[in-house]
Amino acid sequence: MIIQRVVLNSRPGKNGVPVAENFRLEQSTIADTIQVGQVRVRTLYLSVDPYMRCQMNEDTGSDYLLPWQLSEVADGGGIGVVEESKHDNLAKGDFVTSFNWPWQTVAILDGSLLQKLIPQLVNGHLSYFLGAAGMTGLTALLGVREKGHVAVGANQTMVVSGAAGACGSLAGQIGRLEGCSRVVGIAGTDEKCSILVQEMGFDAAVNYKKGNVAEQLRELCPGGVDVYFDNVGGDISDTVISQMNQNSHIILCGQISQYNKDVPYPPPLPPDIEKIQKERNITRERFLVLNYMDKQEASILQLCQWIQEGKLKVRETVVEGLANIGAAFQSMMNGGNIGKQI
Ligand code: NAP
Repeated sequence: MIIQRVVLNSRPGKNGVPVAENFRLEQSTIADTIQVGQVRVRTLYLSVDPYMRCQMNEDTGSDYLLPWQLSEVADGGGIGVVEESKHDNLAKGDFVTSFNWPWQTVAILDGSLLQKLIPQLVNGHLSYFLGAAGMTGLTALLGVREKGHVAVGANQTMVVSGAAGACGSLAGQIGRLEGCSRVVGIAGTDEKCSILVQEMGFDAAVNYKKGNVAEQLRELCPGGVDVYFDNVGGDISDTVISQMNQNSHIILCGQISQYNKDVPYPPPLPPDIEKIQKERNITRERFLVLNYMDKQEASILQLCQWIQEGKLKVRETVVEGLANIGAAFQSMMNGGNIGKQI
């Protein structure tokens, strides 16, 4: 059977900015018949995520991520529909997902590595299983719960960087649902800031590309910062950490501003900021969602409930067509998406 697939065409280099041309669409073939235990699936949605930047390097720098190989098909979170099944628990028409979905139109996969999806849990909005009701939602929820020390009635102020992105837009809303009394976002355009405040219930948002971020934050967080959900690292995080309170907490979710640089993860703080962190006893522990997979099922159900109740507002940026996935990845790495990039 003839299919289309997207392979890694070239590596951007450890310090390079990834571009759409790092990927290549090509025609390929898969077997016409499937074996016992396998399913043939048609791809419906693919997720593009910042962690994939590390897979573009020869060495990903982490033990849980494998590098993509040149001229080999790329992979990541995906959703599809079963077209033919020789697996006992899966039938034609079932919707399924995997974290290692190949970037191709049709694929033959091992049925035991797929999770069956229940579309009703997300009001039929299947792609949410890659975002708000998938890995992204889990990252936001478990990040807040495991590292945020958020408590109802504690009058905490939360700041979120990368706030209009997939994780950030959910993390701020979850911080509020879990008990923060004030939530302030940091994002890169006025449009993003206005969506955060008007749609997603943030109290305020700062456009970090305009004006003085430190001054604006001081005004918007008069009692200081108690919880910082950090997606970006770099100068923005240094500014936020300088305004954090004694015994406050950083949720070290990601450091996207550093991903095109050859630095260790997590990148060390500059000495003056590290001094503040130590003196004020601010926690900054590494957070990795994959370490909490025992909490996955209950957490997904919680996220789906919030979505159904309208308590969690979800935004997605959806690009149509496998041929455009490289451009979608490039745009996501440049902050071009609002919410989850599919
Ligand atoms: P995303 O949707 O692409 O959002 C990232 C946001 O960061 C964008 O909205 C972008 O918009 C902003 N940004 C990009 N480059 C920036 C820069 N140089 N300086 C400041 N802001 C910048 O990505 P995501 O899926 O939400 O992921 C967010 C972070 O979480 C990433 O660092 C990712 O690696 C991490 N993550 C961690 C885990 C975990 O287990 N710890 C799991 C999933 C994701 P603007 O610049 O316009 O604001």
